[in-house]
Amino acid sequence: MLSCKNIAEHAGDIHDRQLPLSRRLAVRLHLMLCNACRRFLKQYALAATTGAKAMERRQTEGDAEQVLRRID
Ligand SMILES: [Zn+2]
Repeated sequence: MLSCKNIAEHAGDIHDRQLPLSRRLAVRLHLMLCNACRRFLKQYALAATTGAKAMERRQTEGDAEQVLRRID
């Protein structure tokens, strides 16, 4: 059985769904039994989604123009 440390170490792969079937099943089993890891992965997903949205916003042309206007 996976440990909480294993879950934390592979949080990125779990979030990106990059695990083989046997590992995914082991993760699911662990999450059924461990409330702390369920909360941890929920927070990880929220942070990853928020970070990705922030990166998308930064890369828009409108934002770049706003920054340039403030510099002038
Ligand atoms: Zn755990």
